[in-house]
Amino acid sequence: MQMKRSGRIHYIEARFDGPNCSVQGFTTRHEGVSRTPYNSLNLGTNTLDQPHSVEGNRSLLSRAFGITQEKLVTVKQVHGTDILVIDGPNDDVSHFLGIEGDAIITNQPGIMIGVCVADCTPILLIDQEKQIIAAVHAGWQGTASKLITKTVAGMKSLFECSPKKLQAIIGPCIGKCCYEVDMPVKQAFSQNGLAWETCTEQIGDGAWRLDLAAANRDLLLAAGVPADQIQVSGMCVSCHRELFFSYRRDGAETGRQMGFIMLKEH
Ligand SMILES: [Zn+2]
Repeated sequence: MQMKRSGRIHYIEARFDGPNCSVQGFTTRHEGVSRTPYNSLNLGTNTLDQPHSVEGNRSLLSRAFGITQEKLVTVKQVHGTDILVIDGPNDDVSHFLGIEGDAIITNQPGIMIGVCVADCTPILLIDQEKQIIAAVHAGWQGTASKLITKTVAGMKSLFECSPKKLQAIIGPCIGKCCYEVDMPVKQAFSQNGLAWETCTEQIGDGAWRLDLAAANRDLLLAAGVPADQIQVSGMCVSCHRELFFSYRRDGAETGRQMGFIMLKEH
């Protein structure tokens, strides 16, 4: 993964092996129009930033990849496990903005699907042969409730994607270095049968550091995605103030970066 620029957008480019049928990456906070503390490429509609600034930023992102803003789809993220599936043509996908969900799957080229994050894990999935893509937003709740597992299952049941053929990229999120969690998180993981010891480090009585990326990697492996087809960015958004927004570091008044993916038009 490396820094790249398209139009005004500075982003971390992620590449999949095989036919080059998609564009994808993770935005940084650079070169947007939002003012402090949302400076500057805040793409989250669910913040207290000026709506016209967010709109301007979403327009910058769309234009950087040759689409109009009506072709950029995000949903109302609620830390749940609902998945939006777009399996038919849409001239305008902006109406999906009000739909509650935390993952998007599509087989439609020319629309960009994205998840907005400040600490949570953005995960991008692709089946290159079948040309199916997904974007997943997994904080500790989405991770504990196995949203990534549900998304892989959805790609399999709806589009006959074999998990063995899937490729995944786990983007920049809060790292183990900066993510202290407590007993309710451990309990949620345990209740759902997730491994705890392999993705945490105990730092005190009832206090752990959690590696969200590792937990989601474990879930992808358990779902049948081969290890060599899972990339992990390893970048901590809290440690990289110059590149990313972080809710834990900055509090509620901060912006959102986006993990995005789009199938190319044929
Ligand atoms: Zn960190």
